[in-house]
Amino acid sequence: MPSYTAPTKDLQYVLHDVLHVSDSDVPGYAELEPDFTSAVLEEAGKLTSEVIAPLNAVGDTEGCKLENGVVRVPTGFQEAFDQVREGGWPGLDMPEEYGGQNMPYVLGTAVGEMFSAANQAFTMYQGLTHGAASAILAHGSDEQKDTYLPKMVSCQWTGTMNLTEPHCGTDLGLMRTKAEPQDDGTYKLTGQKIFISSGEHEMAENIIHLVLAKIPGGPEGIKGVSLFIVPKFLVKDDGSLGDRNGVTCGKLEEKMGIHGNSTCVMNYDGATGYLLGQEHKGMRAMFTMMNEARIGVGMQGLAQADVAYQNALAYAKDRLQGRDVTGAKNPDGPADPLIVHPDVRRMLMDQKSFVEGGRAFILWGASLIDKAHRAEDKDADGLISLMTPVIKGFLTDEGFDMTITAQQVFGGHGYIEEWGMSQFARDARIAMIYEGANGVQALDLVGRKLAQDGGKHVMAYFDLVKTFCSDNKDVEGMADFVEPLKKASKDLQAAGMYFMQNGMKNPNAALSGSNDFMHLFGHVCLGLMWSMMARASLKALEDGTPDAAFHETKLATGRYYMTRRLPATAMHLARIESGADPVMALDAEAF
Ligand SMILES: Cc1cc2nc3c(=O)[nH]c(=O)nc-3n(C[C@H](O)[C@H](O)[C@H](O)COP(=O)(O)OP(=O)(O)OC[C@H]3O[C@@H](n4cnc5c(N)ncnc54)[C@H](O)[C@@H]3O)c2cc1C
Repeated sequence: MPSYTAPTKDLQYVLHDVLHVSDSDVPGYAELEPDFTSAVLEEAGKLTSEVIAPLNAVGDTEGCKLENGVVRVPTGFQEAFDQVREGGWPGLDMPEEYGGQNMPYVLGTAVGEMFSAANQAFTMYQGLTHGAASAILAHGSDEQKDTYLPKMVSCQWTGTMNLTEPHCGTDLGLMRTKAEPQDDGTYKLTGQKIFISSGEHEMAENIIHLVLAKIPGGPEGIKGVSLFIVPKFLVKDDGSLGDRNGVTCGKLEEKMGIHGNSTCVMNYDGATGYLLGQEHKGMRAMFTMMNEARIGVGMQGLAQADVAYQNALAYAKDRLQGRDVTGAKNPDGPADPLIVHPDVRRMLMDQKSFVEGGRAFILWGASLIDKAHRAEDKDADGLISLMTPVIKGFLTDEGFDMTITAQQVFGGHGYIEEWGMSQFARDARIAMIYEGANGVQALDLVGRKLAQDGGKHVMAYFDLVKTFCSDNKDVEGMADFVEPLKKASKDLQAAGMYFMQNGMKNPNAALSGSNDFMHLFGHVCLGLMWSMMARASLKALEDGTPDAAFHETKLATGRYYMTRRLPATAMHLARIESGADPVMALDAEAF
């Protein structure tokens, strides 16, 4: 049975040694003193590793069951959900006026990583609620906020996001669900949504569905989509629950992973809905919370990679096979542990350097969101908007690869369900698909984000890397980081230049390289994170830290990333510069 240890020490390191959160002048950050964040992380760590993680395999094997329109969640989920609610965890970074604790998003993200790693399927019930509540917070009327937010912030009521229909996923302009205006200002929604996460269950008193639909007579395509609040139980004026609304779960999907989360076909049969935001501006309302939702999904990729790595590491230290070619390490035993073998080391170092670099990347991204929202910093907003598809696409692609690498460390045992390693890979797989499939993230990055505001944000990123390199080029010990980072950043700039020179005359030339660009960018980001961590650890060693081993380990892991992982940028650049021809050479009939 796999286990999970909350990485509280590493989270503290990123928050304080690397990001220096409590020194920042972003409103709310002064509270994030090391002792305070440590207490929060330790508490969350206990809950996630002792209560929520043990339910991960239970959720996988039992799954959810639909019985007479009611969805039964796996054994133990209800009790654990009650405990999460009682601890106030769902409202950690939500406004105080609605019952939250108003903590910065960066702390919510650090806590969120532990929840996702412990049990992704379980955590989605509160994750989707957070997303739906954020949309109501950003676009709801005062009355809507007062009606729904206090109950959603506490997860007494949960939330869902309903975009997908059988014939429309990426291309939401094809949507058919209709919302007909009524004389009393409400709407009647009719249509079918599929793949709706947490769409039906009994862990909460009510479920607040946010549903995209078209008002008849509105503009064609995506411009005619509006967003509606559709509660499972209608809410009376005094806040108590009224009649059951016309929305039901018709079917639960059988799926590859996240079995503990109910993935529902939702049927809307003249269900009463309330417009959220403006008519026909539903996509805009959705997009305002997209950055957070996509960063949350990027985190799922990272989180699954971490828990899988933790178990692979324990196995590699325990399992005896073969001898160290340089001399026995366990001479009294029949063989040495797997960890002595260089190829097993390679697998472990790939995972460790990805997980720790990715963790820093996500928390850095979350701090940009805080800057954008709390300090109203437009540059931070532009930068995180550029980085979001990279965080989502790169971390989930790589995160999935790392769960496979972790499985490989187990050999045949990794393929056997009893060891639990296949669940990490199966659960991680969905993060590459939902919240915009990764191909579409790459498209968004290259087709939209690169050129946004005249390319200002990508230039700001290049400047950030350049400034870091010039500030640190003469710092002892930093050459191992600065030189490879400079080279990788040059590859990124060359790729951007290729798109600028070729993208307009042949859009396929840019789009054929979009996935490579997203990965190239992701590697540069992790290269920058490892360089920042190296700088922090060198400083700690210089200051005579009592924890020298931790910082020496950081530096060695960082050097691994810079020498073994970062050179992938050259390969991605070569692919990008090969243009559209190799990709598009065949007629569709020739396949
Ligand atoms: C377990 C699970 C949970 C989900 N939860 C939710 C939920 O809670 N709410 C919700 O609304 N939806 C949810 N979804 C739906 C999910 O977001 C969609 O499956 C996803 O957006 C892709 O849509 P699709 O499946 O129709 O694929 P398609 O849009 O048909 O795409 C298929 C492939 O083509 C690629 N593609 C499509 N268009 C382009 C293009 N223009 N350029 C390049 N490539 C393209 C895509 O990248 C993808 O690889 C969930 C799905 C699953 C499986």
